[in-house]
Parts: sequence; C-alpha cells; structure tokens
Amino acid sequence: MEDSLCEPETEIADDAATGPLPTTGIDPQRLPRPEETEPLQIMWRYVIVLSTVHLVALLAFIPWLFTWSGLVAAVAGHFLFGMMGITIGYHRLLTHRGFVCPKWLEHTLAVLGMCNLQDSPARWVAIHRMHHQHSDHQPDPHSPLVNFLWGHVGWVVCRHRRLDRTSHYERYVRDLLRDPFYLKLERKDGWFFVFLAHAIAITFTGAVVGYVVGGGQWAVVGRYAASWYVWAVAVRTVFVLHGTWSVNSLSHVFGYRNYQTRDHSTNNWLVALISHGEGWHNNHHAQPRSAAHGHRWWEFDMSWRIIQGLELVGLAKEVVRPKSKVASDA
Ligand SMILES: [Zn+2]
Ligand SMILES: [Zn+2]
Repeated sequence: MEDSLCEPETEIADDAATGPLPTTGIDPQRLPRPEETEPLQIMWRYVIVLSTVHLVALLAFIPWLFTWSGLVAAVAGHFLFGMMGITIGYHRLLTHRGFVCPKWLEHTLAVLGMCNLQDSPARWVAIHRMHHQHSDHQPDPHSPLVNFLWGHVGWVVCRHRRLDRTSHYERYVRDLLRDPFYLKLERKDGWFFVFLAHAIAITFTGAVVGYVVGGGQWAVVGRYAASWYVWAVAVRTVFVLHGTWSVNSLSHVFGYRNYQTRDHSTNNWLVALISHGEGWHNNHHAQPRSAAHGHRWWEFDMSWRIIQGLELVGLAKEVVRPKSKVASDA
C-alpha cells in the first residue's frame, strides 16, 4: 500500500473511507455522532483542565500581567511547542511518517508535543489515523458534519468508548507502542506531568527574567513569573489548541478544494496561518503522507520549510514529497 505507514499491520491513513461520497453543500445535522459516543458521557477531567487553562488565559486582559518578554515567550512557544511538537512531531512525523529522523530527535519532538495539552502521542496519533480512515463518515471521531462545535471541541470532552480500548491502540498505533518511550507515557498520564513540568519551567524562567529586570525586587519577580505563566503557558496553549481544533472544524467546512477527496476537507488560509501550514488540509487528505501540505506556490507551509531545513542538515531523511501536482496547475 503506497500510502501506508511503515508498519503494514498498523491501520493507517489511506483515506479510503467506505460509504457514500459526501455530496457538495453541507447540512450541519446530516452526520450522526460516532456510535460509540452514545449515550453521551462528559469526561469531566478534560472539561476541568481545559476550562482552567482558558480561564487563566483570560487573565491576559489584565494590563498588570502584560510584559513584552512574556509575549515574546508566548510567540516563541507557539513555534517551539505548537509547530515543532504538534505539527511536525505528532502529525507529520509520528502519524504519517512523512520523514524519518534520529530517535533522539523524534522523542524530543514528541516531548515538545506533550507541552500543548493535546494528550499523549499514541492517543493523538491513533485518533488522527482513525480520522483519516473515516473522514466525514460516522466513525470519524471529530467530523464537523455532526455539528461545528462537535468537530471543534465537543469530541474532546465526550467519551468515545472505542478510543479507550486496547484494540483501538493495537489497530492504529502498534508501531508506536513498540517503543517503550511511548508505552510508558500511556501509563499514569505521564504526558500530563511533562506538561506540568514545562509550565513550571516557563514560570520559573519568567521569575529569573523579572529578577534581572527588577534588580532583585520581589514584586517584579512575582509579576514576571505571573506574566510568563499567563502568556507563555496559558495563552499560548489555548492558541495552539484552537489552531489544532480549527484544522478539524474550519478546514472541513470553509475553504477551497484542490482535490476531489472522499470527505469535505478544505484548504483554509487562516487555519494555515495559525497552525503553521496545517490549514492546507484538502491537500493533506489527498496525499496524507506528504510532508509538504502546501501544494501550490502561494500555499505557504512553515512546517514544510522547517522539515526541508532538517533535511538540509541531515536530520530528516526519506522525506515524502507531493506525488502529483494540482491538476489545474499541471
Ligand atoms: Zn481532516
Ligand atoms: Zn493527518
């Protein structure tokens, strides 16, 4: 199977969803929720954690908590954790094997991914491979054809019983779980402690900056620590979360299509902008393994540029490129 991942027995994204092709025009109530989300059960643990990080992010409206260094750290974190961790690490490397890299780099990218409150690498990858297999058909964990809110965040906080089963992991991420590094992270929520550790480290760095800036005044140290916590941890995490969720929601509803795929995926420039190229999602569904998601010259894909850079310095190999041009460009 040309578009399979490296493990033939792992169920991967060939985007060959069965069932009738979606028709054009979207009836937002057309698709039922996945069967195994019935009856609806809220996962309060997720609700509490996600609500907390959103509430903390709202503190950014308090002027006292603004510092330029906190803002710079938030923007830098968006690139480091959001792009390197989620877009390049979780998505293009671990899910689709769009390139290979040394184990130390793969694990580093996975650790960066865990700092975004988007679950463990294995769970994320399994859900996403399942999405590709059943895109916009009923088993799809997060199709916005159920309704927009479901596709954006509803699916995150409602139990999908299949996603918790060992058979689901065996089917979709057997390749990943052969590596003890990923297996360990599944136990006792190891990934969540990585998130907490990074939040503490960032807050501490803010305190150090405050110490330097304020000449040792404790009030300044406290203000900078709080500012970095609010901006570089909470605001950045919320921004990256909505960027990823927008790929699932906006990029399956609004935008244009280069390819006639068996789903409603679209190319959306706004999503591409906030998620470092992930918004070229119709291109991605057409050619899931390609490490480049921008297929036309104007479809700027920051993550692809970074992967090219890694290839240039010998850190990325076997980089998968788009196998065909957009028909109208050929
Ligand atoms: Zn999709
Ligand atoms: Zn994908």
